Amino acid sequence: MSESSQSFYNHIAQTSDEPMGLEIDRAEGPFIYTTNGNKYVDLISGISVSSLGHRHPNVIKAIQAQLDRHLHVMVYGEFIQSPQSKFAQLLCDQLPATLDRVYFVNSGTESVEGALKLAKKFTGRNKFVAFHNSYHGDTHGSLSVTGRNVYRDPYQPLLPNVHFLDFNSDDKLERIDDTTAAVILEPIQGEGGIIPAQKEWLKKVRKRCDETGSLLIFDEIQTGFFRTGSLFAFQYYDVVPDILCLAKAMAGGMPMGAFVSSSKIFEVFKKDPPLNHVTTFGGHPVSCAAAYANLQTLLSDDFPQKASTIEQTARKILKGTGIVEVRGRGAMLGLQLESTNLTQKVVEDCFDKGLILGWTLHSSTLIRIAPPLIIDKDLLEESFQIILKAVQKII
Ligand code: PMP
Repeated sequence: MSESSQSFYNHIAQTSDEPMGLEIDRAEGPFIYTTNGNKYVDLISGISVSSLGHRHPNVIKAIQAQLDRHLHVMVYGEFIQSPQSKFAQLLCDQLPATLDRVYFVNSGTESVEGALKLAKKFTGRNKFVAFHNSYHGDTHGSLSVTGRNVYRDPYQPLLPNVHFLDFNSDDKLERIDDTTAAVILEPIQGEGGIIPAQKEWLKKVRKRCDETGSLLIFDEIQTGFFRTGSLFAFQYYDVVPDILCLAKAMAGGMPMGAFVSSSKIFEVFKKDPPLNHVTTFGGHPVSCAAAYANLQTLLSDDFPQKASTIEQTARKILKGTGIVEVRGRGAMLGLQLESTNLTQKVVEDCFDKGLILGWTLHSSTLIRIAPPLIIDKDLLEESFQIILKAVQKII
């Protein structure tokens, strides 16, 4: 065992008894190289992060240029830092007029925390409506709106007054009422098993929020930045949220998150008291420089088409005995298999053949597929053939 791997097992806090334990040497494009000389195709993009592949040259160049200017200079919101301003402008240029102000943070869960606080302060209410099987992060606020008891129970009490409804069901939408601060949902549930919202249902949720003065928060931490075909999933659904949570693929592999809303809603963060929501590192200049290059690159090519090709190729190749369905949109896909045993064995077999596949937190019969959007067609087809052969062999 290498020194590095000994330290990993002895000193890095572990999150399970069975970490994947790949010892990374480097990563480039769709590939990850390990210190023992193996090469893997990254079919989950570090869980929906490296949409442009690893170390995209434009992102690396932007990071290097910013390294030569400055790193952290002051806590968030005080100094004018051009990487932040430039990126906020570019991002808002892509969004409807009601999403014209960005609060930068460092991660997905922080963006959800910020969104919840913003909704409480703006509405003066404290009730939240969330959905079964959702995942919004692992800090206390985001865990409070995460719809899976097995993850919540060890940390009770969480935020009070959170009500969970069934995703895609009209049944209890009247529970969204005039005491509700916000409704939070993922337009496509990720950890819940790659479950897309139904368009008409989402419109009903929007309508109910409008009727009751509740804010609608879309957690697009996983669906954002062309992962599902459109820049953001809400554009496909044609339903505009009041607060949009972003992270993951935002900064080309650098840590970053944001919650985006209107100038009117964000007014409440300025006073009573001033500085009521601040962060030291949110909007780090290197992350913002990377995010600008990342978004500019994403906008300069036909990424909706690339995401759609990934989906079509998956649907064409991945079928047959053992495969229940391919779910999802664009490059956010779930391969539903017949049993937990088959799923585990397929993931292991593919891993032995150099494919990194993902799991989801709430489902044991689903393989997550989220390749870098830059993956070429041959490599994609080859990878899917490996998965198909694994299923055929093991079934
Ligand atoms: N929301 C969603 C939909 C996510 O998929 C995730 C991460 N899997 C998060 C929130 C939390 O993001 P982070 O891990 O950056 O805190």
